[in-house]
Amino acid sequence: MKIKTRFAPSPTGYLHVGSARTLLYSWLFARNQGGELVLRIEDTDLERSTQPAIESIMDGINWLNLDWDEGPYFQTKRFDRYNAVIDNMLARGTAYKCYCSKERLKSLREEQISRGEKPRYDCRCRKSHEHHADNKSYVVRFRNPQKGLVIFNDLIRGPIQFSNQELDDLIICRTDGSPTYNFCVVVDDFDMAITHVIRGEDHINNTPRQINILKALGAPVPNYAHVSMILGDDGKKLSKRHGAVGIMQYRDDGFLPEALINYLVRLGWSHGDQEIFSVERMKNLFSLDAVNKSASAFNKEKLLWMNHYYIKQLPAEYVAKHLVWHLDQQGISTCNGPKLEDLVNLFRNRCKTLKEIASSCRYFYQDFIKFDDVAKKYLHPVAAKSLNAVRGKLATLSEWTIVSLHTAIEQTAKELNVSMDKVGMPLRVAVTGASQSPALDIIVYFIGQSRSLARIDMALAFINRTQ
Ligand code: GLU
Repeated sequence: MKIKTRFAPSPTGYLHVGSARTLLYSWLFARNQGGELVLRIEDTDLERSTQPAIESIMDGINWLNLDWDEGPYFQTKRFDRYNAVIDNMLARGTAYKCYCSKERLKSLREEQISRGEKPRYDCRCRKSHEHHADNKSYVVRFRNPQKGLVIFNDLIRGPIQFSNQELDDLIICRTDGSPTYNFCVVVDDFDMAITHVIRGEDHINNTPRQINILKALGAPVPNYAHVSMILGDDGKKLSKRHGAVGIMQYRDDGFLPEALINYLVRLGWSHGDQEIFSVERMKNLFSLDAVNKSASAFNKEKLLWMNHYYIKQLPAEYVAKHLVWHLDQQGISTCNGPKLEDLVNLFRNRCKTLKEIASSCRYFYQDFIKFDDVAKKYLHPVAAKSLNAVRGKLATLSEWTIVSLHTAIEQTAKELNVSMDKVGMPLRVAVTGASQSPALDIIVYFIGQSRSLARIDMALAFINRTQ
């Protein structure tokens, strides 16, 4: 039988790290088993589902570079099918109309609570409709078995059982004719021939209800795997309080998808002590029995460490492709200046995010109009002497290479009989506007001759003005 998993987000918000990890596990499981992944948008909650949320979920999936084989299906496009199944269940008696009024259900509930009982429907309409002959508006309820157990073997947690007595006769269709969430999931999992449902542990309580409905439809029961929650580093449920929780925020903050994927796979799944996995390796190694039962804590420092690892390890051309997006965001055009790959190589050891690299790249492509405050203090009359001297050398260099630049700076210091620093710092400030940068000969090389000379002139003019 073909293995088929599905990812079924409700588009009520962005793709957050929890759902992204569920997606990743479903995807890896499908790929590992030579199976397929269905994408299904569970948008039946018309009030809370939004188009921007659908778009941001799609953006997230694309950015993570994960794909799917079937869909996207939208539940709102399948109402005819759900209604047909409901009619069929009514005809076969596996579901029944319930005419009980809201008021009756409310007082039933209150009585049960006051008796210390768990509130549940008392099945009045399951037995007969004689009490409600005049009432036209009804819901449809599933005729849940009243005895026995529902047992399933969770592929992550082992056997889980529920007593049917704990389960209500679930409403599967509301008074306005709209089918309810648990019911749509069941029809979809059946129609889409899903063999493995991988989802968050918050759905464990839905599973016995869904299994009962599947059985009533004569549908095969898929395997279930409920993935544990992700907590913040303070042990509380991950939320906005802990910083970014939406996947696209990680892109905006300068993370590579490879880093996030690797981080997420390890957040709840392990293969020995290994931390770094390429997507190919993950696909080969992933299995649900190595997924952790207990909750995982999200650790931003570790994610940052992983991001730095991938920034250092992936080919510079690839990193550069992602970097372009950040440069665009920061209004930096790379038309006029060094090859971006060269700058990736230059900065990747010192920057942990692409955002940081992008801002470090600015002075290679854009002229600045002022020197930063720390930098300014290096621009004083004595520095003017070094700057003038080094300018003379740079202007007349016969070849513009890192080696010739290094020699020119060194010789200037020698001729002026000062330390390298006394030439280097003013020059660094002059060409970058700031007091920190990678090795000076390399950055001057990439900034280029005419730009470097013009910036030295600007620094000299600044000294003249301020002395
Ligand atoms: N739509 C549900 C959610 O976003 C997932 C349901 C399921 O996987 O069965 O939490």
